[in-house]
Amino acid sequence: MAHALTLAAIEHRADLSRANTLRLPCIAEHAAAPTTLSEVRELLALARARRWPVTVLGGGSNVLLPPVLEGLVLRPALCQWWGRCEGDTLALHVGAGVNWHQLVMATAARGLWGIENLALIPGECGAAPVQNIGAYGVELGDVLEAVQVVDRASGRVQWLSARECMLGYRDSIFKGALEGQVVITQLVLRLSRRARPVLSYGDLAARVGANPTPLAVAEAVCAIRRAKLPDPAVLANAGSFFKNPIVSAGLAQPLLARHAQMPHFPQPDGRVKLAAGWLIDQCGWKGRRDGAFGVHAQQALVVVHDGQGSREELMRFANAIVADVKARFGVTLEPEPRWL
Ligand SMILES: Cc1cc2nc3c(=O)[nH]c(=O)nc-3n(C[C@H](O)[C@H](O)[C@H](O)COP(=O)(O)OP(=O)(O)OC[C@H]3O[C@@H](n4cnc5c(N)ncnc54)[C@H](O)[C@@H]3O)c2cc1C
Repeated sequence: MAHALTLAAIEHRADLSRANTLRLPCIAEHAAAPTTLSEVRELLALARARRWPVTVLGGGSNVLLPPVLEGLVLRPALCQWWGRCEGDTLALHVGAGVNWHQLVMATAARGLWGIENLALIPGECGAAPVQNIGAYGVELGDVLEAVQVVDRASGRVQWLSARECMLGYRDSIFKGALEGQVVITQLVLRLSRRARPVLSYGDLAARVGANPTPLAVAEAVCAIRRAKLPDPAVLANAGSFFKNPIVSAGLAQPLLARHAQMPHFPQPDGRVKLAAGWLIDQCGWKGRRDGAFGVHAQQALVVVHDGQGSREELMRFANAIVADVKARFGVTLEPEPRWL
């Protein structure tokens, strides 16, 4: 009871089936959407006192939810953002609950460079460092300066530098040593007024012409993405279902000798990144359905759901794809969304 007066409202038996873009059915025993740092800390203290396990959920666009989530589902709703000009640059402080795409469009409209290529990535800012979101040649790590976190066990508030976040390809410390340990409450991004377009991917350069504005780049990215990817509001999906595998040169070379047309991207450390979508397509999965789940007809990387399936069926479906790719290419695919 000590916490009851100041707590954000807690919903009991909250239905999360509309709170994840794959629309997997899920009931949370308790759920709350704290709007301030102190509410986050109070909710964590309450969960500790009641021995509730805590799950943090943003926009639900990169998770595979179970039918029941026990304990407390924390949905950070800290939605403020503000900036501090420093010369040509702006240090932008963003609350974890700010919608990522809206932030991209708002900053691009103000002539700020840095995150325009990351337009239309679903989800909230608090989740962006977890997998170091990236698209069209840009990653969050290119602009991230610091992350504010609350330690789940002690309630202590701490700042981590971008370096301490150990960002990698769809990876960070929040998937490693700090997995399940902290709630991300704020980011600091460094944006610039100086033009620095990254247009090397696809036909981005052709679409925007010479001297584009950041808004023109963001709008071009949105147009490309809308043409390529299914809208989760219309067809349930979690974006790329598998990470592009990074394999040893020893594994890549014989594969390239057999499949000269195989897309491949040499990495600085000598390894080779392969295109998961191409591997899946080669195994005949593009457009294939099994029950409630299927591989999108245009995008072999995207698994779609008709809304009637379960996580167990999804696991079976995904495992069948992984097994086929392993058998044909000797490459192990890993899912990109988090199994919560
Ligand atoms: C159509 C579509 C397209 C996509 N395109 C891309 C793309 O181009 N590039 C890309 O990188 N990703 C892409 N994604 C994946 C997804 O949008 C990103 O990973 C996004 O950052 C997830 O945000 P979210 O708020 O939905 O996180 P959620 O799915 O809610 O959570 C993801 C993970 O982060 C953790 N988490 C969330 N918030 C916090 C917090 N505040 N503190 C601590 N942990 C937290 C969760 O526990 C979970 O483990 C796409 C997804 C879809 C559906």
